[in-house]
Parts: sequence; C-alpha cells; structure tokens
Amino acid sequence: MTTGKINVSVENIFPLIKKFLYSDHEIFLRELVSNATDATLKLKHLTNIGDAKVEYGNPVIEVKIDKENKKLHIIDQGLGMTAEEVEKYINQVAFSGAEEFLEKYKDSAKDSGIIGHFGLGFYSAFMVASKVEIITKSYKDEPAAHWTCDGSPEFTLEPHSKTERGTEIILHIADDSLEFLENFKISELLSKYNKFMPVPIKFGTRTETLPVPEGAAEDVKPETVEVDNIINNPNPAWTKQPSDLSDEDYKNFYREMYPMQFDEPLFNIHLNVDYPFNLTGILYFPKLGDNIQIQKDKIQLYQNQVFVTDNVEGIVPEFLMMLKGVVDSPDIPLNVSRSYLQADGNVKKISNYITKKVSDKLKSLFTENREDFEAKWNDIKIVLEYGMLSEPKFYEKAGAFTLYPTTDGKYFTLEELKEALQAAQTDKNGKLVVLYASNKEAQHSYIDIATEKGYQVLLLDSPIVSHLIQKLEADNENLTFARVDADHIDKLIQKEDTQISKLSDEQKETLKGIIENSVPKENYTVQLEAMDSTSAPFMITQPEFMRRMKEMSATGGGGMFGMGNFPDMFNLVVNTNSDLADTILNAESEDVKSGLIKQALDLAKLSQGLLKGEELTSFVKRGFETLK
Ligand code: ADP
Ligand code: MG
Repeated sequence: MTTGKINVSVENIFPLIKKFLYSDHEIFLRELVSNATDATLKLKHLTNIGDAKVEYGNPVIEVKIDKENKKLHIIDQGLGMTAEEVEKYINQVAFSGAEEFLEKYKDSAKDSGIIGHFGLGFYSAFMVASKVEIITKSYKDEPAAHWTCDGSPEFTLEPHSKTERGTEIILHIADDSLEFLENFKISELLSKYNKFMPVPIKFGTRTETLPVPEGAAEDVKPETVEVDNIINNPNPAWTKQPSDLSDEDYKNFYREMYPMQFDEPLFNIHLNVDYPFNLTGILYFPKLGDNIQIQKDKIQLYQNQVFVTDNVEGIVPEFLMMLKGVVDSPDIPLNVSRSYLQADGNVKKISNYITKKVSDKLKSLFTENREDFEAKWNDIKIVLEYGMLSEPKFYEKAGAFTLYPTTDGKYFTLEELKEALQAAQTDKNGKLVVLYASNKEAQHSYIDIATEKGYQVLLLDSPIVSHLIQKLEADNENLTFARVDADHIDKLIQKEDTQISKLSDEQKETLKGIIENSVPKENYTVQLEAMDSTSAPFMITQPEFMRRMKEMSATGGGGMFGMGNFPDMFNLVVNTNSDLADTILNAESEDVKSGLIKQALDLAKLSQGLLKGEELTSFVKRGFETLK
C-alpha cells in the first residue's frame, strides 16, 4: 500500500476560486471590508488589553474609486501586517489569520466581533481584479510592506514607504468587471452588505449646510462644508440591550431597515442569547391582514453585523418567514447547501429558540394587555395558525393565546370557548359543537338563524382554517366543528323537543317525489325535515365533511389529492311543516308545482350566494314580472 498527499497546485486553484468559490462576484467588497473591519477590531482589542501601545483613535474604513486608473481602494487604520505576516496570512491560501487570532486570544476576544474564519475571503478580490496590491504598515515598529500579485501564483513582496498604520488594498479592476468602478454600484453594495458594520465606512464626501449664525445680515448665504460620507450605522439596535431601547427606538430601527415600508410594525421580539449558540436580532410582526403576498422585505441574516443573505429558510421556522427584521449569528455555517444547513445541530437549535421566543412574547402580550392583543388578532392570526399547523413546539404553547373570535366580536381562547358552549351546544353524540362561519356576509342568513337561537358562532375566515379545525378535532375528542350552513341548525345541535311532522308518511313520499323531479339530481339531495313552521321552507346546506375536504385539498396538504375537482354537492332541506309544503302538495297542476319549487329553490340559492349569472338574471326578471 502506498499513502501520500494529493498535490493541489496553486496554479489550478486560482481559476477555481475565481469561478466557483462564490457564485456572486459582488461579495468581494463585503470580504475586503470585513477584513478591514477585523483589522480594526483586532487593534481595538489589543489596545484594550494593553498588548498594543498605540493610540486607537477614531478609525474609519475608506472605500475609494479611482475611475481613471481603473482602481478600487479599500483603506483601513487597523493593525496592519509586517512583511512576515503577509507571507503567512496572504501567501498561504486558506490560512485564516482571524481564526488564529481568536484561538490566541480565546478568552478575551470571544466578543470582539471578528468576522473572518475561512481564510479565503481575501482571494475573492481576484474575481473582479486582474491585479491586487497590498500596502500595509503594522502597528509594530517594523517597515511597511508592499505585496503585488496578478492572479498567477507569483507575487512580489518588497518594503514600502508608508508610515501611517493600517492597510490599503488596491484592486486593478479587470475589464469584465468595470461596473465596480461605478459610484452607484459600489454605493449599492455598501448599503446592501455593510449598512450595519461596526466600524464607520467612508465612501466619498457630501456637502453639509451649516446653520447661519444668529444675528447675521439678511444676505449672508449659509455656508457649506464637505464632510465624510459615512454609509453605515455602526451601532444598530439589535446589538444593544433590550433594556436600553424604547418602543420608539424599535420603530426607528424598523424604518431604518425598511424605509419603503409605511405601516408601523405591530410589535417586536428582541432575540438575545449567547449559549449554547450566539444569536442576536430583532423580529417584527408586520401588519399582514388577509393578504399574504410575496414579500420583498424579508428577514435578513447577518454575521457579526455583516449582511449575508435574506434567504433565511431553514434558520427561521417557516411560519415566521412573513415576519421582518434581523437575525445575527456567527454560528450559522455559510456556503453550505440548504440540506446540510437543516441537518446542522446549531441551526435546528436556533430555529427552536426563535419559535420559543416568539411564543413567549405572544403569551406575554396576551396576558399583559388582552384588549390590545385582541385588536391585533386579525393581523397576526395567519402566522399563528400556520405555526400551529407546521410547528409542533409552537402548537403546544399556542393554546394559551390563540383566539377564536365570534361573529359578534367576542374573543375566546379554546378553553373559554368550551366553557361557553357547555351543555348549550352539543350534537347527538354529546360532543360540543363549535359553529363557525367563514364569511359574515355570504353566510349571513345562517348566522342569523343560529344566533337567534342563542348559539355562539365563530368567525374563522383565514384560508387555512379547515386544516386547523381538522387538527383541533383530532386533539380535542369532545369537540366537533360545523360551519353554520353545514346542515339545518336543529340537526347540527340536537335539541330535546323534535318537531312532529304535519304531513303523513304518504304525503311526504309524494312531496319528495315532486321536488326531486324538479331539481337537478347531480347537485342536490332532497331531505325532508319537520321544523317549526316559521323556519325557511327551502334551505340549502353543504355537509361539513365534503366541503372541508375540498377546502383542504385546495389550500394544500390534507392528503386529499384531486378532491378539488369534485362537483359541489348540496342538500336541499325542505321544511315539511311550512305552508309552502302544503301549497306545493295541493297545487292544481304540475306546472304550478314545478313553478313554485323553482322559485323556492332560487330563493334558497340566493341566500347561500349560489344564484349567479343567467339564473340570477332570469330570477330578477321573474320578480319584476310579478310586480306588474
Ligand atoms: P479570514 O478573514 O477568514 O481570516 P481572509 O482570506 O479574508 O481570511 O484573510 C486572510 C488573513 O489576511 C486575515 O486573517 C488577516 O490576518 C490578513 N488580512 C487580510 N486583510 C487584512 C487587513 N486589511 N489588515 C490586516 N490583515 C489583513
Ligand atoms: Mg476575511
């Protein structure tokens, strides 16, 4: 057997880096500004602990375009490198000085905010540059160094006359990347990736108007000065302690993140944990209402204040994707596939932590100010209902604050609802019947009948509610849900005194026959009921089970593949104690009978919102005829 090392020569690695290391060429700037930030934060740390006896000052990182010479400069006032360090950190590809630094200062530097750790970031410069120069002067008392490399493995390293501490990276932008010499492009990249980085970043200057001194003559023009244009906020809200932030601070930060968003957020959740993983952030519940459109302002993922992505799939639980805000965690592996990400232990813990924080927050909002919580319910319910369906850990907790509003504006928790229904609303098996409506307008007549009888009717109008009901029934054996139009109310809720039919069995038989002959069989099942004489003579109902399954298959899941294509089946409930039943039986001719049935069916359809198009037109025409 022979063993050995596969020899990867650098000649082969460069084109690979250029092509495949990062799919997005634009991230070179993020990497170089991150390195400049690291260099600055390292120096800060060394001066703090007394290892560097230099003045830290107020360091700024500068990004400068030299369009004429096709160069882009990134200049920092950080700790710099000696020639020896350039050899070590730059020439050895994939040797991360950031990791070495953190290892060396393990205990003191863990909160220093240092970003790098792969030791590849610097080389991303070659994705856009044909030649890269480093001019660097260490904080140590050693001469500056000048490194140049044109993307081939050969480099030059020589002394340089630079005397101020820090590093200047000069990119000679390649001809296929000239866009990176445009002001707007660099400005766009800086605000995308570096908007909240911890060291001030200067890009160009801007003019500022000075206030006119008091008592100055009328014709004195206000003076203007050129000031550094600092593009970032080095201390974003999520890096602060919740106790140091007011409601207004949270709202201001929301506006800072989403300047184009005009609605105020409903509330926020401050994330802050450092064990067993490190994570900070602020999540906002936006005003959602009923429209869950594709949203462009998504949750953003940062690592040590560097923007990484706004695709937080797998990191933030799916049901919270509709929220907005920031999550910052150095513990999320990057540049890995999504499936790897989901299998990562830390990532799973992070997702669980977020779920827990969100449910804790909701619980406290509910207990602290229930009225306010009820007022916000309509805007948050979609997220919560979706969470209950998709996240078992959330479902467990959600019982404490999930609300079930009634059509007349009361709000029950599930426990309160059970209490309110006790005895008054049961079916023939003794289960509590939760009556609900999905649309107050469309089901108005049915709601009316139920509330008239003193029953509670919930208003459950989100699109996924059929799934939720299914789950609630499965988990609460003594509960059954029925939409108000699922059947005649006296059948949904079993009452002691059932009505006695005025009609004989023979008469009923005849009536049923006549009606069945006049209505389309494929849509309606005729069902005779003895109800009190004031109830509607004809009424259309749709059995709960069929309708719910159809809805579930239409909104995904439910396993009822293809149910959406089934025709709608309705029951036509005919009140045998109504005067109309008598009139139909006793009418002199078949024509009159079928005319009566047609009219009654249309009225029943009208009240169920089923009378449309041509049928509606001819119904209205007939109605006007009778007025003549
Ligand atoms: P990482 O940042 O992951 O360590 P990089 O490839 O980005 O890897 O950088 C390699 C090393 O080069 C850094 O760790 C650091 O030691 C050194 N370096 C890069 N840029 C600078 C800079 N602006 N100032 C000082 N040192 C730097
Ligand atoms: Mg780096």
